[in-house]
Amino acid sequence: MTIFLAMCAVEASAELLYGLIHARYVLTPAGIEALRDKFVAGVFGRCPRVYCHGQPVLPVGLTDRPHQSAVCLYCPRCGDVYQHRSRANLSLDGAYWGTTAAHLLLMHHTELKPKRSQERYIPRIFGFKAQHHNDDKRGWHDTTTGLKNAMQNCRSSNGSGSRVLN
Ligand SMILES: [Zn+2]
Repeated sequence: MTIFLAMCAVEASAELLYGLIHARYVLTPAGIEALRDKFVAGVFGRCPRVYCHGQPVLPVGLTDRPHQSAVCLYCPRCGDVYQHRSRANLSLDGAYWGTTAAHLLLMHHTELKPKRSQERYIPRIFGFKAQHHNDDKRGWHDTTTGLKNAMQNCRSSNGSGSRVLN
């Protein structure tokens, strides 16, 4: 039993050591080029955001300290990070990639940096834009200006809006 526990501890230490060596490697010129090739080929996956139109993503860690968070995916088009979809990668430590490699790659290869997406999803209620008030902790309102105006116009033209809107 003690031998089994010792073997497990050695295996965990070896994985950590390998991961931290990998984090150093991806910062070297050879590591950056390997990262570039995989990024261009879309090996790390693509951004799930609709308006990023399948932009390839890069693996990043949210911190350089091990055992803090799993590896995430950074999209250079929307500038956001996403959780990995595969269960296997959800357990991969983010420190094995680190916080720097993805951005160092884009700094060295500026041609790979896409233009920031200006397209934004616009929430709508019955075709009218929903407005978000930052001071409201409840989030999205169903009190759209356009919808309110339409409802008021309906009420004023029919005398009583409740018949029309119910
Ligand atoms: Zn994106």
